[in-house]
Amino acid sequence: MQLRDQLQKEWSRNLEIVGRIYICEQGINAQLSIPVENTHKLRAWLEAHPVFCGQIPRFNWAIEHRKAFKALHVRMRPLVATGADLSLDELSHEPEYLSPEQWESELRTDSESGQPLLIDMRNSYEFRIGKFDGAVCPDVDTFREEMAVVRDLCKDKKEPIYMYCTGGIRCSVAGAILKSEGYENVKTLQGGVIAYGNHIREHPDRQTTSLFKGKNFTFDKRLGEEVTAEVLSRCDQCGGPCDTFTNCANRSCNLLFIQCPSCAEKHEHTCGTDFCKDRAQMSHEELIKNRIPSIWNYHLRVRPEKIFGPDGVAQVPPSIASSDELEPQPLEEKA
Ligand SMILES: [Zn+2]
Ligand SMILES: [Zn+2]
Repeated sequence: MQLRDQLQKEWSRNLEIVGRIYICEQGINAQLSIPVENTHKLRAWLEAHPVFCGQIPRFNWAIEHRKAFKALHVRMRPLVATGADLSLDELSHEPEYLSPEQWESELRTDSESGQPLLIDMRNSYEFRIGKFDGAVCPDVDTFREEMAVVRDLCKDKKEPIYMYCTGGIRCSVAGAILKSEGYENVKTLQGGVIAYGNHIREHPDRQTTSLFKGKNFTFDKRLGEEVTAEVLSRCDQCGGPCDTFTNCANRSCNLLFIQCPSCAEKHEHTCGTDFCKDRAQMSHEELIKNRIPSIWNYHLRVRPEKIFGPDGVAQVPPSIASSDELEPQPLEEKA
């Protein structure tokens, strides 16, 4: 709690950091934007701090000229919502961490004798717009279901398992669980697709040989970052090739879906219902006066394939008439 208050105060005020930080007993997960000129101050701050000194974390840097976040939010939350309490003992069984270069070369070598078991540990909406060639992408909604699929896929505990996720955190937890269950050969991509994307972008000639194709979904307002130019997905409204995620402009809908520029214009940046178009036009004051509950629950909000009719317009559910007062939930990594 003390640490949370300290980070909230000192980082946002003195270091102009914005982003999202989760703190729990096992560690800290942070996605931050910081002005370049303050990075050395951040390092000095970490080196001087009793909690961090002697164990400065590895950073996953990305260079962007616009900020991905508006403010700094620090919250107490488990590292990965596993649905069960993990002991520090279980977490001490670390998987093998491969750098993007090692990941590439080991996958290539293993692929010579057939497709190795390569598992995408992210959400279904994430792998729609980008994934590693040959990856198995379990279409599940929770970490617990994901682990069940992994165990199912990997009968031989000696067989290599390659796992990746957005930033590497989910895989370090999943890898520790598998190792503690006796899986011997668990390899994870260190720093996740974020690190791999940086590796590709640093050397544009790697674009053509990248094992990852398409965009990496990001949990900020950009909703994605290009790794290679291939477009893997289609517009949820017209079916044309497109990999730009958006949220319906009506905040109480907030549906997450893929929308091409011409559909964005046609449907006024909404999911296409008259209801959402009307609300998207309302002023902040009018919206406050006419508060309504969130239209979709988390699971539906990220499953546009269940929402859109053949005309490319969302089907508004009866829950609009329900009386629960709910704020739209921010999008987060899979719980
Ligand atoms: Zn379209
Ligand atoms: Zn909508």
